[in-house]
Amino acid sequence: MLNKQIVQSALDKIKARRTSAEALAYSFFEKAMASEEFKNNFKDIKQAEIQNARAEVYGEKPKYDIEILLRTQDDILKKIKIDVKAITPHYTCTKCNDTGYINGEMCSCLKHEINLILYEKSGLGKDKKCFEKCDFKIFDDPSKTKKIYDILKNWCDKENSYNNVLLIGKTGAGKTYIMECMANDLINKETLVYFTSAFELNENLLKYHTTFDETKGQYLSMLIEPDYLFVDDLGTEPILKNVTVEGIYNVLSERMRDNKKTVISTNLTPKQIQDYYGDRVFSRLLSQSTSLVINVENSDLRLKK
Ligand SMILES: [Zn+2]
Repeated sequence: MLNKQIVQSALDKIKARRTSAEALAYSFFEKAMASEEFKNNFKDIKQAEIQNARAEVYGEKPKYDIEILLRTQDDILKKIKIDVKAITPHYTCTKCNDTGYINGEMCSCLKHEINLILYEKSGLGKDKKCFEKCDFKIFDDPSKTKKIYDILKNWCDKENSYNNVLLIGKTGAGKTYIMECMANDLINKETLVYFTSAFELNENLLKYHTTFDETKGQYLSMLIEPDYLFVDDLGTEPILKNVTVEGIYNVLSERMRDNKKTVISTNLTPKQIQDYYGDRVFSRLLSQSTSLVINVENSDLRLKK
């Protein structure tokens, strides 16, 4: 499970919407029930529903026409001056009726709420960078930059694309800027996105390694559960024995197994990645079949000072 507290607080928000929608509808319903005519008709509807359900069980034709009864209900409501639609709850999300789940799967509204919380935690800038608002003129070579943006935008738009994206290039080449555009684009698509630095990822791996109670799992689930994981600046974290390399390999493997996408930026060269993290991580990140590797620097994607 994703960090339980995060899911719970997102779910609380959605359930609060459900409760208030139902409370509002119920207040109108109670008002309507003060009318004897409405009350009797309501009883008739309930009875008819039970009888029809029973008939269905025995393979018989439905005994009552519920539609007619409901039309009568509308007429009564109009007569007693209550909005016909007011007695049924109006949920904010009509896909899940503000329950947060559809057949056990997270609804997009729940993912959206979780993203808002993750966004706060991730340190993504308040000025939400996005592909649409990018001013290519700030880069040395706008046309090449545009080309890279188009490739990455395309990757964000396609679900069945490479598992991993690796952005290589020196500091100041605009890697973080591009990653923020990608992350915001995917957040808008209501997928679950977690944006973190390699340093923070390493901290999580260390906590996972050194925790021995029931809270252990949450350090890894933050890295494994989201649909998209962004790791900024791989190579700036200290390599901890038995923790960093093994942890990164496990995270990547689990994510690839579940067909979840990972985007990593690094100042390291491919050779350095192999030296620092070994063959197994290297092949996960630089395999042509699973990774889209873009050398930002070679394309002169350099922010003007
Ligand atoms: Zn929903």
